[in-house]
Amino acid sequence: MRKIFDFHIHAGHLPDWTMAARKFWMETGPYSGRLFTPEGRFDVEALEGILEAEGVVGGVLLPEYAPETAALVPVERVIEISRELPRMVPFGALNPHLHADPAAEFERQLDLGVKGLKIHGVHCLHRVNDPRLYPAYEICRDRDLPLMLHAGTSIFPGVRLRHADPYDFDDIAVDFPDLKVILCHGGRGFWYQLAEFMVQRHERVWIDLSGLPPKNLLRYYPKLEKLSHRFVFGTDFPGVPGIAANAAAITALGLSDEALERIFLGNARRLLPGLIAD
Ligand SMILES: [Zn+2]
Repeated sequence: MRKIFDFHIHAGHLPDWTMAARKFWMETGPYSGRLFTPEGRFDVEALEGILEAEGVVGGVLLPEYAPETAALVPVERVIEISRELPRMVPFGALNPHLHADPAAEFERQLDLGVKGLKIHGVHCLHRVNDPRLYPAYEICRDRDLPLMLHAGTSIFPGVRLRHADPYDFDDIAVDFPDLKVILCHGGRGFWYQLAEFMVQRHERVWIDLSGLPPKNLLRYYPKLEKLSHRFVFGTDFPGVPGIAANAAAITALGLSDEALERIFLGNARRLLPGLIAD
């Protein structure tokens, strides 16, 4: 079985999520019956069993600070899970509407042990190039930590697509040429072509393939083989048809073995040096 690193896994108990997020996402797919206890608590042992069974060597665990549209999953939760399950890499998250001093909050999260930062402008209702976040982006650049940006649609009530404006994302790549930027969902919905162009134009922009139907990837990204050093596998777990199932669908696309190795594991290793065990 090919080893897989899942760059996009959501934590949180069911009651942390809005009813719409539960209905349209968290409770879809094969996992929710096993992953959550009858009270809706996220079961770390169940997660470990699922990852083990599907050949997943690890993953990035994401908190979420979007109480109005999706969820409030505090960073403490992902830290707690990664302590129990060290193959999981905890990331931080910021919402400038909730965190009065985003850089100070990010420093606090770094002290807790996060290894990168995720920003979700569409759910948190702010532009990703909001100047209030730039000091936190400087921290990521200076410490060589990856910055994940939700880059594409979301269908939950109240989200605003203007915050998925591709040119806002390009601003960050231009303003921080040395920052590792990951476009989560790679422009999902309406700007795949621009996302692929940004990967080509900017040396430190990657795409995470989570939340996309694998069978369509070559249509979305015709240069996937050539740019395979800049794509990472991810699923948006637990709302996914299956981690191994998605990986199998990508394997069936006809990419070279080298490209598949990079997408499933090698690129994640380079983005998170020393954090993914052999
Ligand atoms: Zn996600």
